[in-house]
Amino acid sequence: MDDCIFCRIVAGEAPAHRLYEDDDTVAFMDINPATDGHCLVIPKRHAADLWELPDEDGDAVWRSVRRVAAGVRAGLHPDGLNLLQSNGRAALQTVFHFHVHVIPRFKGDGIHVPLLRAPGDRSQLEEIADRIRSGF
Ligand code: 5GP
Ligand code: ZN
Repeated sequence: MDDCIFCRIVAGEAPAHRLYEDDDTVAFMDINPATDGHCLVIPKRHAADLWELPDEDGDAVWRSVRRVAAGVRAGLHPDGLNLLQSNGRAALQTVFHFHVHVIPRFKGDGIHVPLLRAPGDRSQLEEIADRIRSGF
């Protein structure tokens, strides 16, 4: 994946402030941090999104996310932490190499997660649940 910026970071061909690396994953600082400490965890092997990600790489990424989150907590003492993971342009994914955002949260940091929620209609919830179950 020559044109993938995250593959280039994995290969050491593009610069990054690396935090952690193991056989299957790399963690590095996001170049446009939403808060101090905002970083990304990626699999070394290219996968565009969650649906392309092999189970073993998903497991490895999750272990690294937990490791990085522990480092963030010990080093930065945030008040909280969000994980963000986007798939597809409609979900605002901009880099098509799977990644998990680790975003430390601080009281008064002004970040708003724009989820507009309203109570769901029960029959509609069940009908949508059926459609998901039929997709397994
Ligand atoms: P997405 O919008 O796809 O969920 O997130 C992509 C993230 O990658 C963005 O937060 C963006 O700032 C970050 N990013 C894009 N290009 C680079 C880069 O070259 N280096 C680093 N460190 N982060 C990048
Ligand atoms: Zn890639």
